[in-house]
Amino acid sequence: MSVKTQEFDVVIIGAGIVGATLASLLAKTKCKIAVVESKLAETFNPDSDFDLRVSAISRASQRALESAGAWQSILDKRAHPYQTMHVWDQGGSGEIRFDAQDVGEPDIGCIIENTVIQSSLFEVLQASTAIQLFCPSQLTSLSQSGDAHIVILDTGEQLKSRLVIGADGPRSPVRELAGLSVSREDYAQKGLVTVVKTEKPHQDTAWQRFLSGGPLAFLPLNQGYSSIVWSLPADVADRMLTLDDDEFKRQLAEAFENKLGQVTEVSTRVAFPLVGSHAEHYVVPGVALLGDAAHTIHPLAGQGVNLGIKDAVALADILLPLSTREWGSFKRLRQYERARKGDNLVTLKAMEGFKLLFGHHSSIVKQTRNTGLNVLNAMPMVKQKIMRQAMGL
Ligand SMILES: Cc1cc2nc3c(=O)[nH]c(=O)nc-3n(C[C@H](O)[C@H](O)[C@H](O)COP(=O)(O)OP(=O)(O)OC[C@H]3O[C@@H](n4cnc5c(N)ncnc54)[C@H](O)[C@@H]3O)c2cc1C
Repeated sequence: MSVKTQEFDVVIIGAGIVGATLASLLAKTKCKIAVVESKLAETFNPDSDFDLRVSAISRASQRALESAGAWQSILDKRAHPYQTMHVWDQGGSGEIRFDAQDVGEPDIGCIIENTVIQSSLFEVLQASTAIQLFCPSQLTSLSQSGDAHIVILDTGEQLKSRLVIGADGPRSPVRELAGLSVSREDYAQKGLVTVVKTEKPHQDTAWQRFLSGGPLAFLPLNQGYSSIVWSLPADVADRMLTLDDDEFKRQLAEAFENKLGQVTEVSTRVAFPLVGSHAEHYVVPGVALLGDAAHTIHPLAGQGVNLGIKDAVALADILLPLSTREWGSFKRLRQYERARKGDNLVTLKAMEGFKLLFGHHSSIVKQTRNTGLNVLNAMPMVKQKIMRQAMGL
């Protein structure tokens, strides 16, 4: 029996935060969008435990999610704004504080569980008449046919479009099938994530301590809970996963210099390998990569998803004024690549630089970086500039 090919203006593979944001932004124009996602989004339950994966959503990403129609639903579920960021160095006197009021903003950003963002975006996708969701469904093949591409799904369905988007995460099958090469740097670290409650309140502050093994972040959540992202040498992270809860709580509080007192509660723990990667090109004719499919960075500044959302906004800004017939234009896709590659590369390199600088054991380097942090802390204008940049203002 022959399979009928369905035609679309764009086929988006992957409805993670980045792919779903792009689909929601493009759905504002008259068009036909196919979104293919292999996993069903979890529905949010207000009585559920906090998701172990959270994102520090910048002001720029907040605006994009507002424009995508998902922000109010995110706020109605669960999100925690933070007003202050406090960063300090292990075994030294260097520290820096950023306050939202220094840039005249009510907060620096929001800590939001990934399931909250994803389920809110899914509601937008499901409500849109421009979008046809293929979920759960997986891309299995991608081939060129004239000036279009044919996408075949594991369900046997065939989709045809002049534009195929790979928003399918770090292992991106679209990137592989389109023959786009990627450079990788294994950081030999794992990001251990968990949720804790502490003796003292978190003060709506995102805390980060740079340790020689990697940075440790306490990110504020509702009801006094904090989300932990602890970058550790891979073998140490694996060991941390095997500790009993009391011993883990003790070691975590100690690594954090007991800044928030004892750790009184801890949830399950999971560790993700940390790998930096960057695709050599984000586009080939009729195909573009976005988000983690194009780049992954060290989570030390919580910028990964924010960069991906910037990719989605940049591509939507280029495509929306065009007729949908032009959406696959290589010239336009190159314009998207030029708009985003430089910014992503600078952030990737900056994160690698921070990781090296703060991982250095030499006393001269330690002294210099502590002095540097304190000097920076005493320079309000420079701090404001850094904050505005990080918030995407
Ligand atoms: C420990 C850790 C902490 C982090 N903390 C932060 C933070 O605080 N702030 C921040 O901004 N970033 C953070 N990040 C990075 C952030 O999580 C990622 O950058 C972000 O989730 C990438 O989103 P994405 O939509 O590009 O990719 P993904 O979230 O990987 O989504 C890709 C989607 O594609 C789907 N897919 C894959 N293959 C197929 C296929 N063949 N067919 C159909 N669908 C497919 C997948 O199911 C998935 O839903 C962190 C990362 C780690 C590891």
